[in-house]
Amino acid sequence: MSVVKRTSKNVLLDTALENFYGAAEEMGLEDGLVEILSRPERAICVSIPITMDDGSTRVFEGYRVQHSTALGPAKGGFRYHPDVDLEECEALGSLMTWKCSLAGIPYGGGKGGIACDPLELSTTERERMTRTFAARVSPIVGEWEDVPAPDVNTGASEMVWFMDTISKMRGRFEPGVVTGKPISIWGSKGRTAATGLGVFTCIKELLIAEKIDVKGAKIIIQGFGNVGSYAAKFLSEVGAKIVGISDVTGGYYAPDGIDVNKAFDHVTNHPKKMLEGFTQSGLSRISGEEILEVEADVLTPCALEGAVNAKNAARIKARYIVEGANGPVTPDADEALGSKGVIIVPDFLANSGGVIGSYFEWVQNLGGYFWTEDEYNNRLIPIMTDNFHRVWNYAKNHDVKMRRAAFLVAIKRVADAVKMRGTFL
Ligand code: NAD
Repeated sequence: MSVVKRTSKNVLLDTALENFYGAAEEMGLEDGLVEILSRPERAICVSIPITMDDGSTRVFEGYRVQHSTALGPAKGGFRYHPDVDLEECEALGSLMTWKCSLAGIPYGGGKGGIACDPLELSTTERERMTRTFAARVSPIVGEWEDVPAPDVNTGASEMVWFMDTISKMRGRFEPGVVTGKPISIWGSKGRTAATGLGVFTCIKELLIAEKIDVKGAKIIIQGFGNVGSYAAKFLSEVGAKIVGISDVTGGYYAPDGIDVNKAFDHVTNHPKKMLEGFTQSGLSRISGEEILEVEADVLTPCALEGAVNAKNAARIKARYIVEGANGPVTPDADEALGSKGVIIVPDFLANSGGVIGSYFEWVQNLGGYFWTEDEYNNRLIPIMTDNFHRVWNYAKNHDVKMRRAAFLVAIKRVADAVKMRGTFL
């Protein structure tokens, strides 16, 4: 490859570029395509002036990056966090391109956000900020252009404000401009559990491929929020033994198995949706770090990035890691675990049930016809199963790790589309 490789001081963007260049080199991607795919198609910065509740004015910085629209409209969330900047959005937007490509859905990738501390803002201030952001990115979003979704610190309310603003500005109802809406306002049944169902499907297929009985297989789930709790629920329904769970309040270890339904109900009824106070017979309380290191077949990190890192990698006993969260295994831990023979199912395969679920919401919005939860799940499971085996078989046939295999498969689909569509004029 003779292209001058881009680098960045932003760790996320630098890692994203490194992963891309590494895979591109391995697959012998031609230089022109490397140049095109290592850059976003479009990135905009907007200022967002808000009248605060006390009458003062503050101006926030907002961003929307469309990394690729080769396969379809850009797809990806927008987040509210003090660290949001253009490079972070570029990195996360490119990861969305690869995730959607790998998932086999007709989307490109994008990401956006506003640099702010949402905890400092009242609900009305957040609403004004979201509506002004929507108005300022309006020229580049739409059901066939770019379809945002919730991300860190944004959820159903932000999606409704965003959709409502775009609809009023365009003088027509625009439900398909965002996904992640509440069921009552053109959201979709099944979406809440979709990512956990996808993680569960990957674990099940992995165990079958490795000839390990799912029934009785020992699993650790780090993070008992949306992704982790649903993954645990589906796993326990097929007889897997969830030996450890954790959240910000620490680790909960039961070698004979956690009563997942009890833990799920506990969290649902807890005022802060936490495991704090959860008890059952045979349960020991250990730290959130220790739970990652207990004896198990599969470790499923579903909390934050960097949970498995250079410090604890040597103590991990699980033979398989299925990444429910985004980036839970650092590159150095990935290397160390890989050389010990640990198989890691990468995040952009394992947690892609979320974006496939968003695609289902968009399809229902375009058609104005709603599916039952069973229809939703019965469409999601075969797609996840297929995607898992595509990456699994590629990794086996080419003797590469699953993460590299996933990148190679994903990049090829986008590169083929760019090549077929050609450069404009
Ligand atoms: P969530 O906020 O619902 O749950 C996060 C959980 O992690 C909570 O139980 C929290 O207490 C726990 N946690 C936080 N810090 C922890 C720590 N140090 N140790 C143990 N537990 C800790 O979030 P979520 O929606 O379940 O998302 C989890 C991860 O999955 C994130 O990386 C997210 O980006 C990724 N993801 C989510 C979706 C989705 O559809 N929700 C889709 C794709 C990827």
